[in-house]
Amino acid sequence: MILAGLQKNSFIDFPGKISCVLFTTGCNFICPYCHNADLARGEYPARFKLAQVIDFLKSRRGMLEGVAITGGEPTLEGGIVDLCRAVKSLGYPVKLDTNGSRPAVLRGLLEQGLVDFIAMDIKAPLNDYHPFSRDPKIHERLAASIRMIMESAPAYEFRTTCAAPFVNANSVETIARTIEGAACYVLQPFNRRAVCLDPEFNRRQDPTLFPDEMMRLKTLAAPFVRTCMIR
Ligand code: SF4
Repeated sequence: MILAGLQKNSFIDFPGKISCVLFTTGCNFICPYCHNADLARGEYPARFKLAQVIDFLKSRRGMLEGVAITGGEPTLEGGIVDLCRAVKSLGYPVKLDTNGSRPAVLRGLLEQGLVDFIAMDIKAPLNDYHPFSRDPKIHERLAASIRMIMESAPAYEFRTTCAAPFVNANSVETIARTIEGAACYVLQPFNRRAVCLDPEFNRRQDPTLFPDEMMRLKTLAAPFVRTCMIR
């Protein structure tokens, strides 16, 4: 397996831990606001072989507390099981970012005890994913991933990027009802300064939700989950 990137230190990618971040390439979604456009398109040059990553992790024992794996969409990577197993065998907890489109891969990782934390994006109400995915059955796969994560992930969070016109009070409340009882729901303000997968997305309109709107969304979602936060 070949990885596109290795960020040596992060304080924000694995909640509560100092981690490094591994980047896979390629994504099966087409989120207009995606900030990792090159990674999502699979155009990012491959840079690290698994053996290099293993050597790096061995050299950071005692300094790093975990490994975050992100993308692109990491569950598309054929070597994801081997990667997680190798990282776990070195004693590092694994955090996986996912769009939730491949519940079978998540099930395999969970059943083998190869992930410690899953962060799944929920971009919109599950029946309203046409701006993000061309898969007509995506809502079924997303629902399966949500159920599985809530039932069997050691730790997890669901996240929504709050960008107009995709996210508003109705959509956030619908998402919160879908994950009712979840341990953690994170609302992420959209960062307008970044370049997007759809370069026009930022230019056509201002997709930013301002702090008072974000607080309103949090107030709407909070009753349905154990913890709701803006990050
Ligand atoms: S934001 Fe969307 S397109 Fe970008 S990597 Fe995540 S799921 Fe893929």
